[in-house]
Amino acid sequence: KVREIFTEETVDSVCPFCGVGCLTSVSVKDGRIVKVDGRDGPANENRLCVKGRFGFDYVSSPERLTKPLIRRDDAPKRGDISMTRDNHLDYFREATWEEALDRAAGGLTAAFEAKGGAGVAGFGSAKGSNEEAYLFQKLIRQGFQTNNVDHCTRLCHASSVAALIEGIGSGAVTAPFNAAEDADCMIVIGARPAQNHPVAATYIKQAAKKGGKLIVMDPRGQDLMRHADYGLQFKPGTDVAMLNAILNVIITEELYDSQYIAAHVDGFEALKEKIRDFTPEAMEPVCGIEAQTLREVARLYATSAKSIIFWGMGVSQHVHGTDNVRCLIAMALTTGQIGRPGTGLHPLRGQNNVQGASDAGLIPMFYPDYRAVGNEDIRAGYEDAWGRTLDPVRGLTVVEIMNDILAGGIEAMFVQGENPAMSDPDQNHARKALSTLKHLVVQDIFLTETAWHADVILPASAHAEKLGTYTNTNRQVQIGRPCVPLPGEARADWQILIDLANRLGLNWTYDGVPAIYEEMRSHMASLNNISWERLERDGTVTYPADAPDKPGNEILFGHSFPTADGRGKIVPTDLVPPSELPDEDFPLVLTTGRLLEHWHTGAMTRRATVLDAIEPEPVVSMNPRDIKMSGLEIGQQVTVETRRGAITLTLRADRDVSVGMMFIPFCFFEAPANFLTNPQLDPFGKIPEFKFCAARVGPAEHQ
Ligand code: SF4
Repeated sequence: KVREIFTEETVDSVCPFCGVGCLTSVSVKDGRIVKVDGRDGPANENRLCVKGRFGFDYVSSPERLTKPLIRRDDAPKRGDISMTRDNHLDYFREATWEEALDRAAGGLTAAFEAKGGAGVAGFGSAKGSNEEAYLFQKLIRQGFQTNNVDHCTRLCHASSVAALIEGIGSGAVTAPFNAAEDADCMIVIGARPAQNHPVAATYIKQAAKKGGKLIVMDPRGQDLMRHADYGLQFKPGTDVAMLNAILNVIITEELYDSQYIAAHVDGFEALKEKIRDFTPEAMEPVCGIEAQTLREVARLYATSAKSIIFWGMGVSQHVHGTDNVRCLIAMALTTGQIGRPGTGLHPLRGQNNVQGASDAGLIPMFYPDYRAVGNEDIRAGYEDAWGRTLDPVRGLTVVEIMNDILAGGIEAMFVQGENPAMSDPDQNHARKALSTLKHLVVQDIFLTETAWHADVILPASAHAEKLGTYTNTNRQVQIGRPCVPLPGEARADWQILIDLANRLGLNWTYDGVPAIYEEMRSHMASLNNISWERLERDGTVTYPADAPDKPGNEILFGHSFPTADGRGKIVPTDLVPPSELPDEDFPLVLTTGRLLEHWHTGAMTRRATVLDAIEPEPVVSMNPRDIKMSGLEIGQQVTVETRRGAITLTLRADRDVSVGMMFIPFCFFEAPANFLTNPQLDPFGKIPEFKFCAARVGPAEHQ
């Protein structure tokens, strides 16, 4: 019996959750996953976190979609906010693939014929493979002559990418997170890697243990601060004040690297001028960090031989998110802390393939490899390759698409593997937009909150059921392999996209994933020397690679930047307040984010038995002092309200949450945090301000 248990088959793959990209060994028995172990990958060296190790049984959940579905003619109005998960299958009838694909293509085509490309939009997925992201953006651009195609990068690091492309000519990391091990000084700002990139956090903790100085900056306290030399719990929304004060010290104390600046950087004089008034003493009351601490941190970062900066969505999800990142870039460029081992800029990417999906062109302003849709020569190349006239104008982004639907523009949407009915800000608005569409096609593995609104639902593949490549936060392109069969009539996402494209007359003839990868690669210089054969052989390769037999370059920009003149650019910043400040009616600051056990909107991890058992119910966390002051009790049901909506959930005490703040994770469908959040956008990255809005809390009406 024991031998039987241990004779499972194992398949080498990659974790489907976060951007760390841990390589896995998946044990399968009787067509089901029974165990996941870590493998010796470059990003994890055999390690896994709780999600990667125990979060696999969503794949065999009884809730998986196994047949195509079409909305019943007599189904109630879509988008009712009182909807629950219980009854939604009743709104749909089963259909054949032929009928569902015909219906899906027909509705999208009708909108295109009525309004041209302006009538259609698509959200692809950062959870799908690179090949699926490439096909999805190609389908929308080639099939509907529009660039209205985006994905959840718009909700996480769009502002980081905007600032990085502007400052150093590349939106990806300049060094892997493992570079922490070579660093003398590490800054982690607006990121909680111990929860959201747990295996990456182990490298940072190890580096700190070996003597690397660690500075953690976060308005909420966090585990990593226990390992830190400096823990700066600054006032929420004051990143620019704090970072400009650090830049002020670097400049006034002449801690900058004038040789590096002369050789590689523009904009230093303008920065000098701008930060003159941002003295630590002037910024102390703004950001809440003592002037002396700001001075010490500035000196430590600038004078260490090797310093590296990591950041997350606490930096990017603000109306001043791009400015926050501009400050971090300015710190690296003034001090020359970039382009050498142990230095660099690393936005910790969220989803397992958000880097790859962005690289593959799943964004409204760029074709693959960030080549501008507005550039005539580039567009002409794609028109030749794809045989269709293409849209010369940048498309709409995630929140802009929702606004456009309600303004009477877009009439039909195709959503593959994303869940805007949980992830978009101001859910009353977002769900109303989804309800207003004349035609919505959803391709997914579960009946998500977005699928509730659909006309046609196409049952798709979980990560463990298909072949594909995924690019992690370190720029490592890695192969995910099929471990278990698809359930029922579900199909691999790339196959569904081909079927749909051919119903649109696009005549796609790919005979498998390698053929799609090779076509995508032909449009992406970043993947030069990384053939499908090489990936099959090596399993993981970092881009860019200089030769087919040489390892990829982990550390970038030692000599120049991929900008027009090869120089980096500092863009000085001003203070921009959050879009909505607390007042008498809404006196608290609400911030949202993730939990260690649950991934994004919870579509997968809420259906993973172990993970949901650990964190089974929606909670709002507050500082014990605020709980006492408000007369509430820990564990009671409370209603949290903002100017956009109200939700009811359980009150939890958490000393890490500063006085005056509340934190709500956005993974719980029972109390979706995004009914509360502010949809105001950063003007450059078009990312909403998930990290700051004014809120109030009180006892729930029905206790
Ligand atoms: Fe998966 Fe990220 Fe955890 Fe690694 S750290 S096991 S990639 S969720």
